[in-house]
Amino acid sequence: MTKIVDLRSDTVTQPTAAMRAAMMAAPLGDDVFGDDPTVNALQEKLAALLGFEAALFMPTGTQSNLCAILAHCGRGDEYIVGQLAHTYRYEGGGAAVLGSVQPQPLVQDASGQMALADIAAAIKPDDCHFARTRLLCLENTWNGHPMPASYLQQASALAREKGLAVHLDGARLFNAAVASRQDGESALASAKRIAGHFDSVSVCFSKGLGAPVGSMLCGSKELIARALRIRKMAGGGMRQVGLLAAAANHALDHHLERLADDHALAQRLAQGLQGVNGLTVRSAQTNIVFVDVADGRGPDLLAHLKARGVLATGLIGLRFVTHLDVDAAGIDHALACIRTFFDQPATAVAAPAARGAAVY
Ligand SMILES: *Cc1c(COP(=O)(O)O)cnc(C)c1O
Repeated sequence: MTKIVDLRSDTVTQPTAAMRAAMMAAPLGDDVFGDDPTVNALQEKLAALLGFEAALFMPTGTQSNLCAILAHCGRGDEYIVGQLAHTYRYEGGGAAVLGSVQPQPLVQDASGQMALADIAAAIKPDDCHFARTRLLCLENTWNGHPMPASYLQQASALAREKGLAVHLDGARLFNAAVASRQDGESALASAKRIAGHFDSVSVCFSKGLGAPVGSMLCGSKELIARALRIRKMAGGGMRQVGLLAAAANHALDHHLERLADDHALAQRLAQGLQGVNGLTVRSAQTNIVFVDVADGRGPDLLAHLKARGVLATGLIGLRFVTHLDVDAAGIDHALACIRTFFDQPATAVAAPAARGAAVY
C-alpha cells in the first residue's frame, strides 16, 4: 500500500512513538479535583513560557476561544472580530449562542488584518443604545499568514486605549512565531513576544505541534478562574486528562523548532508549482499553501490527486497543509501529480457552487 500524502490539515498527524510513550508514562489524577500532576505541570509551564500568570488545558481550540470570550465579556457585551476569523465563522457562533455575547465582525484584508480605523469606528460609545464593546479578538496565523509585530502592537494599543481587552486565537501561534522570529531567536522567545500583546492567548497542540488532542488558554489568574467555571459549564471538565497533557508536553519539548521544516516543505510545494499553467500560488508563508485553480478545475484536480493518494481541500482555491507526517518525497509526489493533471486538456466542467470552503 502506498502512503497517503494527507495535505488536508495539520490536524491529521498521528502521535509519534515517543509521544505515545510519554503519554503512557504520565502520572495521572482527577483534573476536576485539580489532582492531575501532568495537567498542572503543563498549565504552569506554558503560562510561564508565554508570560502569563495562569493557563487552563482545554479539549479543543473552539472551547478555549469560547471560554476566553465568555470570561472577558458578559451577557449583552460585544467582541470585535474579523469576519473570516475562525472564532466568528467556524465555531458555531458559540459566544452568541452560549454567552449572549454579540460579535461585531469586520472586513479583513488579504493577510487577515482589520483596518485600525475600522476597529476604532466599531467601538461603541457608552450609551444605552449600544452593546458594550469589551474585547478585540485577533488570529495569528490567519490562513497561514503571520501578523506583523507592528500590527499586533498597534491594534492591541488601540483596544487598550479604549478600555477593551485583547484575545489572540493563536491556534497556530507557534507557526507565527517561527515565521516572524528575529535572527537567532528561539520559537518560544518569539511566541512569548507575540503573546505579550494580549490579555489572553489560546494555542492548539493538535495542529502543527502534532498532539492528538488539546489546546490551552493562557491569561491572568482572575481570567483563568472565570474560564474554569465556563469550561465546566461547557462540559470540558476532564478527569485523568494528563494522558493528553503528556502528549501536549512532549510536543512542546520536541516539535516546536521543527515547525520550520513544515514551512520549508510548504515553500518546496509553492516553488514547485511556479510556472504550472492553470494555477496560481496565492500564499505560502507558514505551513499552508493556497492555490487558485483556473477554469473551475479545482474539484477535478482534487479528484485526480485523491486517486493518486494525495489529499487536499478546497474548491476554487485549494489548500495544502504541511505537517509532521509529510516529507519531501510526499511533496514531490504531490507536485508530480499536479503537473500531470495540468498536462491534460481541460474537460468541460460546471463552475463549482459558490460557497466558502471550510478552513479548519
Ligand atoms: C483549528 C483552529 C481553532 C480550533 O479548532 P478546534 O478544532 O476546535 O481545536 C481555532 N482557531 C483557528 C484559527 C484554528 O485553525
